[in-house]
Amino acid sequence: MDIKDGFVGTVGNTPLIRLNSFSEETGCEILGKAEFLNPGGSVKDRAALYIIKDAEEKGKLKPGGTVVEGTAGNTGIGLAHICNAKGYKCLIIIPDTQSQEKIDLLRTLGAEVRTVPAVPYRDPNNYVKLSGRLAQEMENAIWANQFDNLANRRAHYETTGPEIWAQTDGKIDAWVAATGTGGTYAGVSLFLKEKNPDIKCIVADPMGSGLYSYVKTGEIHVEGSSITEGIGNSRITANMEGAPIDDAIQIDDKEAVRVIYQLLYEDGLFMGGSVGINVGAAVALAKQMGSGHTIVTVLCDGGARYQSRLFNQEWLAAKGLWPEHWQVK
Ligand code: PMP
Repeated sequence: MDIKDGFVGTVGNTPLIRLNSFSEETGCEILGKAEFLNPGGSVKDRAALYIIKDAEEKGKLKPGGTVVEGTAGNTGIGLAHICNAKGYKCLIIIPDTQSQEKIDLLRTLGAEVRTVPAVPYRDPNNYVKLSGRLAQEMENAIWANQFDNLANRRAHYETTGPEIWAQTDGKIDAWVAATGTGGTYAGVSLFLKEKNPDIKCIVADPMGSGLYSYVKTGEIHVEGSSITEGIGNSRITANMEGAPIDDAIQIDDKEAVRVIYQLLYEDGLFMGGSVGINVGAAVALAKQMGSGHTIVTVLCDGGARYQSRLFNQEWLAAKGLWPEHWQVK
């Protein structure tokens, strides 16, 4: 018998997928960890589960309690599912720049959702800071605090990293991923470097994020912006602190969109925007490293969450991002 124990028992153990068109193009094995196949539909199910389990184990989250979080969407979706499965309430603070699909889904899942204007982290009304204050003011509530709660990266150190190692038989030359909280990148990097310090760990960064300049110059410098959601950062989170970084690759939206459409029409994979940054960076890295290498990245979530944006010709065209090459479809 092979039966999973409810939602919680179904998180993780995702397949590692060879991205055929990109592998053939580059002569490298470009592999994607299929996190969109988690039961809540994204890589963040793992962090949400570890954060809730950690709070339970420490006695901070008691029956009937509320989990509060500021999230760009996927962490909230993971938390809302787990709260339903475990009998907790869920309050989500989300910037109003995030896709309507994610906001609607959170409400469908029964979370209380408050949308707030997207303001920088230094502003006291930033969604992350607001969620922390609200949690403090409430009875029997915890703040998930995904950016600085190390249970987040532990999820990836204890599960995603070992899965990738086992799935490749340890034959992996590089790991590349974009960072939101940094939990996925840091947890997997820390695990892989322990197994083999020669594995290159590379940060993929969208425009408008400060990590690329941080890696290249030691200073956080933010320029431009990106249509991708859930990634990019203008500070070093606790989850990113001490993470091994060998290099960084910056990918712009035009390339990310091209990659997303190639994944859709050549590989049959319907992926979200951050996957465009991740796979775009894996391809750029393959070109730098030369053929014959194995490069692993993350397929963070699926495309349905971005139907009204990434897969809407008018929306993309208005931003000058519609990839002409795919117009035939
Ligand atoms: N891609 C998407 C779509 C996400 O929602 C997130 C999480 N914000 C990430 C990538 C980055 O994951 P992490 O927080 O582990 O850095």
